[in-house]
Amino acid sequence: MSPFVSPSSETKVFGIFGDPIHHSLSPQMHHAAFQALNLPHVYLPFHIRPNHLKEAVHAIRVLNIQGLNVTIPHKEKIMPYLDEIDSVAQKIGAVNTIKNEGGRLIGFNTDGLGFVASLLEAGIDPAKRAILLIGAGGAAKGVAMALLAAGSREIHIYARRQIAAEDLANRLRKCATQNTITARAYTPGAEISLQTEKPLLLVNTTPLGMKKEDILPFPISKINAEWVVADLIYRPYETPLLLAAKERGAITVPGLGMLLHQGTLAFEIWTGLKAPTKIMRQALLQAFSKDKPSA
Ligand code: NAP
Repeated sequence: MSPFVSPSSETKVFGIFGDPIHHSLSPQMHHAAFQALNLPHVYLPFHIRPNHLKEAVHAIRVLNIQGLNVTIPHKEKIMPYLDEIDSVAQKIGAVNTIKNEGGRLIGFNTDGLGFVASLLEAGIDPAKRAILLIGAGGAAKGVAMALLAAGSREIHIYARRQIAAEDLANRLRKCATQNTITARAYTPGAEISLQTEKPLLLVNTTPLGMKKEDILPFPISKINAEWVVADLIYRPYETPLLLAAKERGAITVPGLGMLLHQGTLAFEIWTGLKAPTKIMRQALLQAFSKDKPSA
């Protein structure tokens, strides 16, 4: 598949801001979608260093860039430079998608909704489970907020810094006063004792599992066949945590689904068209084929 359309005055530019940016698979995914729908659009990776973020946002307007994704480390810092933040992104406190509406820049957050979409696609109803969230960083905020919106009534946050866990818990409590939301300091791998009547959905939102030398973020001896274990990490396709959980009979949900669905939702915000999900998934799997030869 050719990565570029032939540029013309009709060509619309989309892209992603990040630092670093070389690892991003969003260009492949969105190009495949644009080509599938015959749209004269291009999607470019922009390496934006933190000290250039303000000028980069100005350039969106000047260059009439139609839409952007935003990734590490800009998701929070970009917010003051935008003209409007939608209510979901406001509650999360981070933006991963920008739409340019005639020079007016509107920020959205599709990360959490993308995660919930990946659960539903795997046949998991988060409303029927108690959530055990490991980590309380940027992605965890979006995921937790979307789980609340999807009906999860019990969310337990375990993060290495108590203050980060508390901060996220307080944000959630403001949105759902009746729910059970707890926050604890947690050293990855340490035992926990959690009493809950509902079956568990464990979500790893830490980067533990990206590197070969990483320890598991959670002790696998706790996991049984009634659990669902999801990992936000998408590289490797299946983390050591997911492989171990699968061996113990749990249902596992890799981070690829979240990556895909945060992208399909962004595509729909920008174009108003239904995203070609199958084609976007294929593009991702193709990009992943080095990690997962059978994909
Ligand atoms: P982040 O804002 O840096 O948050 C990372 C969280 O993990 C923080 O709570 C951090 O704790 C904790 N953490 C980091 N290293 C740790 C360690 N060694 N032990 C224990 N806790 C540790 O990052 P993020 O943006 O949320 O991203 C988190 C992960 O999600 C990354 O692997 C990223 O690739 C993945 N992600 C996937 C998707 C997708 O579409 N699938 C989307 C977004 C993110 P501190 O606050 O104390 O540092």
